Amino acid sequence: MAIQDIYPTALRLLGRPVLVVGGGPVAARRAKGLLDAGAKVTVVAPVASEKLRALVDSGLLAWEPREYRTEDLDGVWFVQTATGTAAVDTRVAADAEAQRIWCVNASDHEASAAWTPAVAEVDDVKIAINAGGDPRRAMALRDAVATALETGDLPLRRHRKPEDKGSVALIGGGPGDSGLITVRGRRLLGQADVVVADRLGPRELLKELAPDVRIIEVGKTPGHHPVPQLEINRILVEEALKGNRVVRLKGGDPYVLGRGGEEAEFCRQNGVGVEVVSGVTSAISVPAAAGIPVTHRGLAKGFSVVTGHEELSEVPARPDHTVVLLMGVAQLCDSAAALAASGLPLDTPVGIVEKGYLPEQRVTIGTLGTIADQAEAVGVANPAVIVIGDVVRVSPFAPEHFKTADYSTITPNRPRVRTN
Ligand code: SAH
Repeated sequence: MAIQDIYPTALRLLGRPVLVVGGGPVAARRAKGLLDAGAKVTVVAPVASEKLRALVDSGLLAWEPREYRTEDLDGVWFVQTATGTAAVDTRVAADAEAQRIWCVNASDHEASAAWTPAVAEVDDVKIAINAGGDPRRAMALRDAVATALETGDLPLRRHRKPEDKGSVALIGGGPGDSGLITVRGRRLLGQADVVVADRLGPRELLKELAPDVRIIEVGKTPGHHPVPQLEINRILVEEALKGNRVVRLKGGDPYVLGRGGEEAEFCRQNGVGVEVVSGVTSAISVPAAAGIPVTHRGLAKGFSVVTGHEELSEVPARPDHTVVLLMGVAQLCDSAAALAASGLPLDTPVGIVEKGYLPEQRVTIGTLGTIADQAEAVGVANPAVIVIGDVVRVSPFAPEHFKTADYSTITPNRPRVRTN
């Protein structure tokens, strides 16, 4: 049997009687597939496996607990035989052939009149693969295609129908590297009609969008002012109400100092459905790009993320509590002064990571007392994440004399004894 000799087609079995002969796991799988397609399934088998019994018990299919008889084919549109006994399967197939009913014979692939492909469903797409009679090859291919659809590597985008309702997905794109967006985010991006994009985030992915996807830039780009927040909110709602699938692609995580909450609220208030897809925040990932963990056993148990000096009076001023500043370059001098005034020692390490994950990434390391001058001297610019605390010592970019911590001496906390 050559692959050219098969004719792929899709059967619409809703409400139609079909027959499964056999009670084992293969028969149960086939019966389940037929039920999922809405067929009226009868199973004929003297013994039924647990899975099949469960389907019978839930009233989804009819089970005839006996041997197969030729009359079982009366009135059925389609039959699958998987009894595990070749002679029985051959007989079912021959009866079906005589009555011109399509039959899948599980025990003789070559002789079988019809084949069942490896199937996967992603969104409203069903893929079915036959691969030269090798089911494992077909399954491997099916999985690869399904993954490519899930991740947005294959175009899952639907052509919009006039009656389609628009929606907004607020997607956290991560700090800029194309690999640091979530699978869900990538998939929704691949389905977008309109993308409302920031300056930060995975800009490379925009180049991969289909040519008819509209990109609206709202971030500050050289020579262009950023679009005000209210205007962004308005664009999202307006585009969605036209029926578009709108993706708001944001840098980092939408809910971390990103005004995502306001955008989501505005959409909901205006009757637009909104899905929020979390992202990898720059507050954690950009320090990591310079080898700085925001918490580290023995060095820091917690961290705060703020934008600048105004909130710093609320933050614990201790080297073992990491402070992460976003959008903090302009106010760095004031922020350092505020932390020093709260009692943070001047020799507390500080790291600045500019353009994290981008080819131009640069790391500057100093102390609370020196960092503002250093930043000015080297011309530190946005986007940059500033990390303050003992965790900076762990960075491979830190000077040798910062690396004083001896982790081997750290003793674990004593177990707490419960008294009640
Ligand atoms: N919601 C975003 C933060 C938006 S505020 C998030 O979760 O990451 C913008 C600030 O994020 C910038 O001023 C900078 O401090 C930081 N930032 C974002 N991407 C960055 C990157 N690739 N490198 C350095 N800083 C970055």
